[in-house]
Amino acid sequence: MTQNKIPLAGVIGSPIAHSKSPRLHSHWLKRYGIAGHYIPMDVARNDLAQVLEVLPKLGFVGINVTIPHKEEVIGLADLVTDRAALIGAANTLIFRKDGKIHADNTDGYGFIENLRQGAPDWDPKSGPAVIFGAGGAARAIIASMIEVGAPKILLTNRTRARADALRAEFGSKINVVDWVQAGNILEDATTVVNTTSLGMSGQPAFRVPLDGLNPAAVVNDLVYTPLRTEFLETAASIGCRTVDGLGMLLHQATPAFERWFGHRPDVDEETRNVVLAP
Ligand code: NAP
Repeated sequence: MTQNKIPLAGVIGSPIAHSKSPRLHSHWLKRYGIAGHYIPMDVARNDLAQVLEVLPKLGFVGINVTIPHKEEVIGLADLVTDRAALIGAANTLIFRKDGKIHADNTDGYGFIENLRQGAPDWDPKSGPAVIFGAGGAARAIIASMIEVGAPKILLTNRTRARADALRAEFGSKINVVDWVQAGNILEDATTVVNTTSLGMSGQPAFRVPLDGLNPAAVVNDLVYTPLRTEFLETAASIGCRTVDGLGMLLHQATPAFERWFGHRPDVDEETRNVVLAP
């Protein structure tokens, strides 16, 4: 960024009004006394390419990308990180001074940092992971669990074909298990993650029986509305350490904020409260 230009960043998606990112980044900008702005922008699919051309000219140093543009921006970027290419989607763009657009995906990073912060002695190598769900979020979770050395991933999804497709892509560390059998694969797992939308406010309840959970497991729900889901409450009642999904949202934002605004922000109780405030 140049000395005399106030850097702009933001998030593009459609719809975008629900996004917590403007509140989060604006809080960090204020907290660290950085002159900059973070703006939500509703962008239609047809306008995406044109918007990406114009934003750098307006002083944008980068943007976050959310539904429905996360996949399409990969094809519009000049440089794509390995992890974004592997996931097939980007959530962060950096507009470089040389005019090139750099695409990254920090969802997996956010997921891992959240578990490390929420359960400091969590060891992903200590045993198999069970992952519920095979949608967009599951891709980032699988890629990051493989990266940090999970020995085996038991993957289960209502629509088995989607899980089979992920196995074909990510390889033999993944064992696909039928959704009706999901309650029977928990006892050896040391990491258990719900990446489905089950249990989210307004969505059906998570009904897979969890009584087979190993009390030594670290259990994480990507759903964060409500913050304490039934999935987490049941796991906690069995004695598991539980980590809610809000931290993933907060941690995935830190590398982008640092790249755009030059300061690595902290994720702490104050940050959580700012995002949770009504
Ligand atoms: P997605 O691509 O639409 O995938 C949805 C997943 O939920 C699929 O596995 C789907 O199974 C499953 N599902 C939906 N309804 C179901 C039902 N009635 N019974 C069984 N399975 C069902 O969504 P996504 O982007 O992966 O997001 C999934 C969840 O993660 C959402 O709640 C999202 O808010 C949350 N998330 C949180 C963060 C965070 O930072 N904490 C980040 C990303 C996502 P099928 O394949 O059978 O449809």
